[in-house]
Amino acid sequence: MSVVKVWKCDSCGKLIEKKSDVYVLNMKSLPFKILGDPGAEDEINVIELHFCQECAKNIVESLKRIESTLGGRVCNVSA
Ligand SMILES: [Zn+2]
Repeated sequence: MSVVKVWKCDSCGKLIEKKSDVYVLNMKSLPFKILGDPGAEDEINVIELHFCQECAKNIVESLKRIESTLGGRVCNVSA
């Protein structure tokens, strides 16, 4: 028996064997400080999601629809 490393699409659950077929979406919160911790550095929450190509394309299309409803206030959405 052998072990194979794969990625799992965070949307549809499809298993992806090739790293070059994995699409990554990083989302970050605005910087914040933890209350009660004087001198604390800014913290940022980060979520990293992995998608197959089909789900990545669907996400881009969704972002384009959101952009169009906002009247072009969002920039740099590309396929
Ligand atoms: Zn998928």
